[in-house]
Amino acid sequence: MALRELKVCLLGDTGVGKSSIVCRFVEDSFDPNIIPTIGASFMTKTVQYQNELHKYLIWDTAGQERFRALAPMYYRGSAAAIIVYDITKEDSFQKLKNWVKELRQHGPPNIVVAIAGNKCDLSDSREVSEKDAKDYADSIHAIFVETSAKNAININEVFIEISQQIPVLDAAGGA
Ligand code: GDP
Repeated sequence: MALRELKVCLLGDTGVGKSSIVCRFVEDSFDPNIIPTIGASFMTKTVQYQNELHKYLIWDTAGQERFRALAPMYYRGSAAAIIVYDITKEDSFQKLKNWVKELRQHGPPNIVVAIAGNKCDLSDSREVSEKDAKDYADSIHAIFVETSAKNAININEVFIEISQQIPVLDAAGGA
């Protein structure tokens, strides 16, 4: 079975739950006292997608300013980016637009973009409507899901949707 490596970058403000999403996806666990990532963390997970194996190489910088200078390198060769905001923090949704701009500036032109509205288990404290976020995602042709790393909602689904948007290899093995 063909193995494809797909580099996926996590973007979004500190505290929105990027590391928790990766932890839920890779280890199927949630640590409420997760220690903020120092520097860039890197994790992998391989899943079967149709008749291929997709090995996700997941990069998470925890959005640290001092790593921003490395942005072009961080994004290089990325198949996809997951931009995360926190549905209980309007500000994190507004910042999403800066992350999209940064990605457009430094990322590969054909990168698949997914927007994840995380912490959907806290809908009592919701500040961002699902419709506003979906409309925005549609306007930039991005995948959109609301997720909860805590309750394991839509975490695997984000990655499946990314795989769905990656062009399949043709019979000759080309992209
Ligand atoms: P990062 O800075 O974006 O990597 O965010 P973290 O993964 O470190 O998460 C920041 C805080 O939000 C931590 O206290 C997490 O436990 C919490 N958190 C992350 N995801 C969720 C979620 O889906 N639901 C809830 N209720 N809390 C979450």
